[in-house]
Amino acid sequence: MRDLRPRGGRKPSMRVGVPRILGFYYLFPLYREFLRVIGVDFVETPCSTPKDLDQMKLCPTDEPCVSVKIAFSHAERLLVEDKVEALFVPSVVSLDQKNYCCPKMMGLPYMLRAGLDLEPEKVISPVIDFKDNPGCWQKTWIQAASKLGVKDRGLVRRALERGLLAWKESESAMSRCRLSVLDLLEKREGVLKVLLRKEALSGFKAFGTAGVKEPVVGSGATAILGHAYVLHDLFGRKILEMTRAFGPIILPEMVSPEDARQHLATIFEGEKMWAVEGHILGSGLFLARDRLVSRMIMVSAFSCGPASIIENYLSRAAEDNGIPFLSLTVDEHTGEAGLVTRLEAFLDSCGKPFLRKSLCVYRPEPARKSTIHRNSPPVPGPVPAGPVGAVNMGTLNIPVASLLRACGVEVVLPGPLSDTVVTLGKELAPEFICYPMVALLGQMRELIHRGVDRIIMIQGKGRCRLGWYAQVMQELLTRAGYRVRILAVDSPFPWKEKGQLFLQVVREIVGSPGPRDVVRGATLAISKLFLLDRAQDLLREVRAREEERGLGERRYKEFLREMENASGVLSAVECFRRFVGDMRGIRRVPGEPLRVSIVGEIYVVNEPYVNKEVEKILGSFEQRVRVYRRLDVTGWVNYHLLKTPVAVLDYRLVTKAAEHYIPVSVGGHGQETVGEAVMAKRRGMDGVIHLFPFTCMPEIIAQNILVKVSRDLQLPVLSLMISEQTGVAGLTTRLEAFCDLLAGRRKEKAKRHERGYGY
Ligand code: SF4
Repeated sequence: MRDLRPRGGRKPSMRVGVPRILGFYYLFPLYREFLRVIGVDFVETPCSTPKDLDQMKLCPTDEPCVSVKIAFSHAERLLVEDKVEALFVPSVVSLDQKNYCCPKMMGLPYMLRAGLDLEPEKVISPVIDFKDNPGCWQKTWIQAASKLGVKDRGLVRRALERGLLAWKESESAMSRCRLSVLDLLEKREGVLKVLLRKEALSGFKAFGTAGVKEPVVGSGATAILGHAYVLHDLFGRKILEMTRAFGPIILPEMVSPEDARQHLATIFEGEKMWAVEGHILGSGLFLARDRLVSRMIMVSAFSCGPASIIENYLSRAAEDNGIPFLSLTVDEHTGEAGLVTRLEAFLDSCGKPFLRKSLCVYRPEPARKSTIHRNSPPVPGPVPAGPVGAVNMGTLNIPVASLLRACGVEVVLPGPLSDTVVTLGKELAPEFICYPMVALLGQMRELIHRGVDRIIMIQGKGRCRLGWYAQVMQELLTRAGYRVRILAVDSPFPWKEKGQLFLQVVREIVGSPGPRDVVRGATLAISKLFLLDRAQDLLREVRAREEERGLGERRYKEFLREMENASGVLSAVECFRRFVGDMRGIRRVPGEPLRVSIVGEIYVVNEPYVNKEVEKILGSFEQRVRVYRRLDVTGWVNYHLLKTPVAVLDYRLVTKAAEHYIPVSVGGHGQETVGEAVMAKRRGMDGVIHLFPFTCMPEIIAQNILVKVSRDLQLPVLSLMISEQTGVAGLTTRLEAFCDLLAGRRKEKAKRHERGYGY
């Protein structure tokens, strides 16, 4: 390959390591070509080995998926065994202008840096972000090259262009020549040219739009759908090998992006599905609907977030087309024997081993024309207009009810969350879906059982799974035979793209109330929202100091009932004023309680049933604890809906505080959680409690990085992953031990102070 460096250009001396993990499996042509053209020596790790499984402990937390945990071993191997000067691990935020990548592909370089305690210059992590920074993410590659000793911006730009071209070429070569990622990965330079020439010469045709519609593989083909870094690495290779004995296998990379996109478009806002998972899903829909395969196997990492969303669609498509479907999850504990048994049972049950007759042509019966309709929200048939239901989080039902009733809507609110309601959700929820969706799905079933046929739910396609809740729940409830319509309220901005749909959904909910009613309802709702969040903070203050334990709680419960019945802003404010007066009147004990900040995922932090009443437990300890919490609905509304200057400034301060540890947003409140922990130290907190739901991607990234933040800032952080199985007794014990630790540290600090040590 021609050396593009200027004549006499000094060859940079740095040697970097490129771990073969996650994004590398999709973007290696880009990484290789970029580093080659700028003249930086690099070494890649090979596929994972069982030794890497032993090294999983390098990952400071257990919650990340196996694909992330194994990355720590690859990184360590490059630094220790290959003695590279730095790791080259780009932060892959988005590969397309319409969607993002899994938050872990965004956060990986920062997790590695924190988890392996590396200096910033040890992890070179330029950003790829076609969606939010289409014009300026390239700058981070110029900065990365400069850290690698290459100052020639022109050369770097050319290298990036060449890399992007190589990436796109490899993508199309894989679908045109039906090559797997590993075929291309393992091949030396020039393989592309050879393959394309072979294709031109042999008239060798792939299937789908890249070639004739007629499949060239016989029935008995198996679609194996999953991430390349799972399928082609330690965990998936056995599955590929075994399935090949039963006939040709078709992998997502062998389906052209056009075919995958066309079928993905049949799902409402399918184009906003995470890039890699969107292609996997689109490929599966295409192969199933065009009957190009006779079996379908989905392989995903244990607790994989995006997989929990796409699996539902894939199993449905397979079911609709009579194709046997098997879902396998793998992690470091997966025993090969168990996997082999399940796979053999599945393959035996749906097809005899295939005697390999290369490329026999087979004409399947004409595929049923899949009913492709674009971009319409998934709506079941006409539904009678009965009462409207609204799912809940914390005290949100009070302002929501005020708004809807002011607009003349008969609204039914769910009862308090309970084990029964959560079980209702669990029965329908996909495995590894995050707990908030299980709780919301349970509430929806409870509402439907009470005669509700339309349910309001917020949504907004972003980096994490929240955006898919509404339509996945619609799909699950419809498949379970419920005749219900989920009215998903998304932000109306950008208005040109989303305004009409927003109005359509709002009209479906409230019809056309008078503008005065809407304004009155909205004002009352927002006032109640702000007053409720302030009342909660006053309750935290009183809990930490009240002489008679529980007095504040009782007064707060009364306040909630009064606020629910407040019919106007004035009566709401009056109700709040009385509450403040009473709370201030409560006798307090002397002394300074421990100061603890609660951070984490918004639903778990704001829904007492889900977080097992953590704040109340902390407020009941003999050791007095003053809980501080800044993550509430008021803050969310101020920043995401009203964009108040204070909220915007506050958001900037928090993300600035996180920047040293994680400079990119990873969806949800992942980045903010890290920033809040750093700010908690500055605000003199004794400790931080981090609450997040099982498998929550943004918070698993934050949890991983908080280990380093805690170490660096000498600030105890207790990360608590909450799921349906979380027990109150165990949780209370951990919280009590944590508070004892904080009290001990505070005593120690006071002693050191007395002895005249500054700190
Ligand atoms: S959660 Fe899933 S999509 Fe994300 S990195 Fe892990 S395996 Fe990949």
